[in-house]
Amino acid sequence: MQPLAARALAMPPQGVRVIMDLANQVPDCIRLEVGQPDFPTPPHIVAAAVAAAQDPRWHAYTPNAGIPSLREAIAAKMRAAGAAQVTADWVCVHPGAVAGLASALTALCDPGDQVLVPGLCWPNGALWLQVLGAEPVFYPLHQENGFLPDPDELRRLITPRTKALLTCSPGNPTGAVFPPALVQALYDLCAQHDLWLISDEIYEHIVFSGPHTSPATLDRDGRVIVVSGFSKGYAMCGWRVGYTVSPPPVAQTIIKLQEPLTSCVNAVAQKAAEAALTGPQDCVAAMREAYRQRRDLALAIVREHGLFRYEPQGAFYLLVDVSAAGLDSYAIAKALLAEEQVAVAPGEAFGTGGRGLVRVSLAAAGDAIAEGLRRIARFLRRHGG
Ligand code: PLP
Repeated sequence: MQPLAARALAMPPQGVRVIMDLANQVPDCIRLEVGQPDFPTPPHIVAAAVAAAQDPRWHAYTPNAGIPSLREAIAAKMRAAGAAQVTADWVCVHPGAVAGLASALTALCDPGDQVLVPGLCWPNGALWLQVLGAEPVFYPLHQENGFLPDPDELRRLITPRTKALLTCSPGNPTGAVFPPALVQALYDLCAQHDLWLISDEIYEHIVFSGPHTSPATLDRDGRVIVVSGFSKGYAMCGWRVGYTVSPPPVAQTIIKLQEPLTSCVNAVAQKAAEAALTGPQDCVAAMREAYRQRRDLALAIVREHGLFRYEPQGAFYLLVDVSAAGLDSYAIAKALLAEEQVAVAPGEAFGTGGRGLVRVSLAAAGDAIAEGLRRIARFLRRHGG
């Protein structure tokens, strides 16, 4: 038999999925590993999908870039947030932000190119860079600095091969939210060194205090590519709708790539996404408030057990320090599942910066979060904590 593709074989499995698959074998375990809202998709969005499914217009392929009215709604949302330059032709709709990110990286990177990637970050961007033959160069995020990137540290990692900077705010797994001055500093750094800035904003709706600032609102010269979607803010993970917003030369390439990759996103799901954007937004605010309450509940419990380290400002995750157990974080996640029937994501699934940490998802019911954290504390007491 001919060998399989070396780059495909070399790509490691995604670490959160490893634990998810194990947790599927443990009936009744507490599921805090996956970043998926436990809320149902709001009813007006579901109703729009039902109507679309009954309408033969949405039984056909859509344009590669997405249904025009959805692209316009996304562009209007960007303009309302302050990115005045954005028009519908900047937008491409993808089957999830994950595909938007992979498409953007594919459009930008030749083999050997480097992309600066957070050293503690949702891993899929770095995995895809490996498949492309490009090189993720990890930049550190320090807890003492609220897990925010330091522009000076970033500057030191830039080489003639650096093509782009990838950022994620609010951050997964950190919950860090970039203050506007940092967004400006990162944008300026990219402008000085002529780098693309890929801004993953999938958690944009889940910020507990202060604004969400997109670098697209500062973009004078067309170097910012926004990746976002509907999974998190609208509880639509399974609908698989995300998007990229990029300046025309990039957008045209991303849209061209869509044909051999997926052709277009499921039309019914696109109509649901359009209803999400154009309909009432109180559901988004209600879910955000629930995540904030769960964060506060989780912080109270980690404080009680001496495990408090920092306060996430957005997204729906809390990193818990399990270094006292003295094992690598995969071993800890597996042991927690076996001994305490609680599933968490190993910190090292998010990069070497995740050593000694596990990520707890706050997108689960409050009772499950509270009980899961108590079990983690009990585990640590038993294992040297
Ligand atoms: N970006 C980040 C930072 C994420 O955490 C995730 C999913 O967990 C995604 C993108 C992908 O989201 P989607 O469901 O839209 O593909």
